[in-house]
Amino acid sequence: MKYDVVIIGSGPAGSVTARFAADGEAKVLVIERRAEVGVPILCGEGISRKIDEWKIIEGKRWIAGRMDGARIYSPDKTCVTLGAEQAGDETGYVVYRDIFDQELARNAIKAGATFMMNTQAIGLIKEGDKIKGVRAKRFDGELKIEADIVVGADGVESKIGQWAGIDTRLDPKDLETCAQYTLTNIDVKDAYCDFYLGKEIAPGGYVWVFPKGKNIANVGIGILASLSEAGRAKKLLDDFIAKDPRMKNSSPIRFLAGAVPVANPVETVRDNLILIGDAARHVDPITGGGLTHCLEGGKIAGEVIAKAVKAKNFSQGFLSEYETRWKEAFGQKIKRNYLVKELMLDMDDKTFNKLANALKDVKFEEISTHSLVKEVAKHLPISAKLNALIKYRKEIKEIKKK
Ligand SMILES: Cc1cc2nc3c(=O)[nH]c(=O)nc-3n(C[C@H](O)[C@H](O)[C@H](O)COP(=O)(O)OP(=O)(O)OC[C@H]3O[C@@H](n4cnc5c(N)ncnc54)[C@H](O)[C@@H]3O)c2cc1C
Repeated sequence: MKYDVVIIGSGPAGSVTARFAADGEAKVLVIERRAEVGVPILCGEGISRKIDEWKIIEGKRWIAGRMDGARIYSPDKTCVTLGAEQAGDETGYVVYRDIFDQELARNAIKAGATFMMNTQAIGLIKEGDKIKGVRAKRFDGELKIEADIVVGADGVESKIGQWAGIDTRLDPKDLETCAQYTLTNIDVKDAYCDFYLGKEIAPGGYVWVFPKGKNIANVGIGILASLSEAGRAKKLLDDFIAKDPRMKNSSPIRFLAGAVPVANPVETVRDNLILIGDAARHVDPITGGGLTHCLEGGKIAGEVIAKAVKAKNFSQGFLSEYETRWKEAFGQKIKRNYLVKELMLDMDDKTFNKLANALKDVKFEEISTHSLVKEVAKHLPISAKLNALIKYRKEIKEIKKK
């Protein structure tokens, strides 16, 4: 088997990369170890409406509900509201993640990509140091798939980068462990997404309630792996649900457990290799949201791959256009939000309460972590500001060393 590009993983990152590479006439194969694209769902299913502008996914089948705003609750339940009245169209959707992923895959197939399910990458094909494709297991057999470019879109547990010699290990302080129920018969009245912060509620993370329609919502939790033993996320989530009157008569129709990287991105380009999505650690370290970056990054990766195939140049130098462009698009945001995440870890519940009190009457111009971070920075205690400065300097030194 010989392709221009083989993509490992049919999540949003893999499918969007496949679509734009195939649009540019590259011969693309996507391999996926699961039996069905997007199933099982491992997601809170929230996404910003800015994806409308990108025109990467059309139609409405994948939309479960529209978000009108967000409310953030501090440990003493002080509420900071980011409402639609300030944000206009800058709100979001709650999606059906299985349909969302399948729509993206359909678009890739329409553009000319081939998908192969039940096919798990088990190693790289190399000649000396040169990457020449992947080895894969399909049912009981083994396949050799030759390709000029291998794309690691294999999610949080990614192996592709590691096989190519890139350090993709995640420190427990850079990994959120998550649990989520989809609850029916829940008393949610409006289309606001709610976030609950606090060391007791969700150490190093938050609880979310994302309404998915009338009386149905995703209720989940993410907590830092460094602050939790096995099973703690589910236990804390169960405690939260037991205490919330809106959930008194509710019942789950789905449970899931998963992990999200909340780290700085890794090296994403080598000769004949690209990493994308969660595999590249392209997740917002504050929110744990990765979907928008999969779409934005996937489009860039696909376009650069198509150019590389036309130029027959698969070198790190040529492919580095991908790294330059994703850094321009959202690299700065991830770096800034990583620092804010670190800073939040040093804050106790009292500081969260004080901040929420200072922000509760602020009229936010838009719903984004950027506008929130800007306001938080204004109201941070001086000790926290100093901490941030020290961490920022350390970070800059590390980057310069690299
Ligand atoms: C509980 C939870 C809630 C979340 N909520 C949100 C949210 O509300 N909003 C948001 O934006 N983000 C959310 N995220 C993050 C979001 O789900 C990820 O950022 C997104 O799925 C990343 O997409 P991806 O394509 O990089 O990887 P994935 O969607 O993980 O896809 C990777 C694919 O690769 C396949 N694969 C892996 N290894 C191999 C192999 N060796 N061979 C073949 N196939 C392989 C996997 O089966 C999988 O299908 C959440 C994550 C979790 C766990």
